[in-house]
Amino acid sequence: MSAPNQSIIDTRGDQMFPTLEPAEIERVRRFGRVRSYEAGEALAKVGDVGLGLSVILGGKVDITQHDQSGLRTPIVTHGPGAFMGELAQLAGRPALVDAYAQGPVQALVIPPEGLRALLIAEAELGERIMRALILRRVGLIQAGAGGPVIVGRAENGDVLRLQGFLSRNGHPHQTLSPETDPDAKALIERFQIDPGQLPIVLCPSGQLLRNPSETELARCIGLVGPIDPDRVYDVAVVGAGPAGLATAVYAASEGLSILVLDSRAFGGQAGASARIENYLGFPTGISGMALMARAYTQAQKFGVEMAIPDEVIGLAALDDPDHGRFVLHLSNDERVSARAVVIASGARYRRLEVENLENFEGASVHYWASPLEGKLCAGQEVALVGGGNSAGQAVVYLASQVAKLWLLVRGPNLASMSRYLVDRIAGLPNVELVTKARVTALEGADGMLEAVRWRRGVSGEEVRRPIRHLFLFIGAAPNTSWLSGSGVALDNKGFVLTGDAAGARRSLETSRAGVFAIGDARSGSVKRVAAAVGEGAQVVATLHAFLAATASRH
Ligand SMILES: Cc1cc2nc3c(=O)[nH]c(=O)nc-3n(C[C@H](O)[C@H](O)[C@H](O)COP(=O)(O)OP(=O)(O)OC[C@H]3O[C@@H](n4cnc5c(N)ncnc54)[C@H](O)[C@@H]3O)c2cc1C
Repeated sequence: MSAPNQSIIDTRGDQMFPTLEPAEIERVRRFGRVRSYEAGEALAKVGDVGLGLSVILGGKVDITQHDQSGLRTPIVTHGPGAFMGELAQLAGRPALVDAYAQGPVQALVIPPEGLRALLIAEAELGERIMRALILRRVGLIQAGAGGPVIVGRAENGDVLRLQGFLSRNGHPHQTLSPETDPDAKALIERFQIDPGQLPIVLCPSGQLLRNPSETELARCIGLVGPIDPDRVYDVAVVGAGPAGLATAVYAASEGLSILVLDSRAFGGQAGASARIENYLGFPTGISGMALMARAYTQAQKFGVEMAIPDEVIGLAALDDPDHGRFVLHLSNDERVSARAVVIASGARYRRLEVENLENFEGASVHYWASPLEGKLCAGQEVALVGGGNSAGQAVVYLASQVAKLWLLVRGPNLASMSRYLVDRIAGLPNVELVTKARVTALEGADGMLEAVRWRRGVSGEEVRRPIRHLFLFIGAAPNTSWLSGSGVALDNKGFVLTGDAAGARRSLETSRAGVFAIGDARSGSVKRVAAAVGEGAQVVATLHAFLAATASRH
């Protein structure tokens, strides 16, 4: 096998593996402690939570990855002045690579909290270290190294679900075909798996999961752990979209203790955007995933705790409201206590009203248009329903991948789409706009779509096309059902009322003092990334005022 990560090591090798000067090592000594290792001893093992970031003081350490058959491939050898670690060390998550001492090794081991303190206290050095940690993770994602191995057919709905979950959480993984890959065949034989039980997932710890839920998979790879039931956070933020992540970054950087919970992945709807072109400061645009991954890493640098995937199903007050604490109930029966709550649970896609839609939702009907979906329908004929900006962006991206795209809109034109997208779409020869369109039927078998029927124009003429992938971008409804019975007032469409409209004393505060709402979930909000980030930052001042007032009352 050729060396993994070769491309990124070739292009960014010096930034990925910088060497610290002796004076710099002296400056970082105060953040860790020195440890000695014998020849052959492990400094890190895939799947184990390590001690933190290690700066090599003497000796050499081999960094390797291993595949499911145990074959080890070298990534790099660290010598004196180099440091060993990647993003997992920032949050105290399990290692994604193996590290073994070549001979006797002395290393300065900096635990996760020391690493976060270093990144903040040593701005220039911290920037170099952070860049290296991010690039190393990018390299591991490219190589699929250190993460779980999914065995299943590429077009299987559950394979897509698990791949989507891991990609959107920035976690490396590999998918092996049970039909063509010899390693996959060996795994199926070894664990005696029936074809009907696929997909299976082999975690780095060696544990095998049969078609797991996202939560089971996340627990197996150490992405999420149990929440301390006795801990009272200053603020619990529900939702890790742009609004929730902005609150997390600004509040944690100002010293508040923050827990962010998300039922799916960081990034929210913004994470699904192929290219955000209207976010300030990115003249050439940026993919939603890239923007959100930066925010997620930034939040962890300031010590924000992440509970992803963890779904909040209710908000209750403690019996004694004088304690000024809020309790969130999670779907896994855990509880979270906090002095204040920020609702940043955004909105979710609307579903099309057509019979048997759910039969095809795993493998053929998509609500996102990321490179994953782009690859699935490369060179094919697809249909996309929707006339707003998110539909427009998806059309522009998908048109570069597919042979033909039918853009179906309910209205007579694309009036609700931004001009720049309308112009761009007009210049795409493989996109055909169908106005006054209504999808009437989906045909297919075993979860795979084979044809889509729609009626078009005033005549209502019916069209049937052989289409295996249908994309839906038909707007969003608020994610606020979890607030039912909590006493937080909603408007008639289910968005959270704040400020004057809620009879609240503070801006962005809901009808319950100490519970705030920001971003798309808030009634009257502007549905934009920049607006969500702005509200996420703005609410922090209000949080300080609320927390100070409650502290002085007690
Ligand atoms: C495909 C697409 C493209 C877009 N492109 C652009 C663009 O180019 N420019 C622009 O300005 N805007 C764009 N938007 C809109 C923008 O993404 C949203 O306005 C923005 O993401 C809203 O941020 P938010 O944090 O309020 O909510 P969201 O992004 O919706 O995030 C909410 C988060 O809360 C989580 N959540 C929900 N309920 C719960 C619960 N009960 N427990 C735990 N977690 C929960 C969700 O999983 C989600 O991650 C786009 C939207 C889409 C869908």
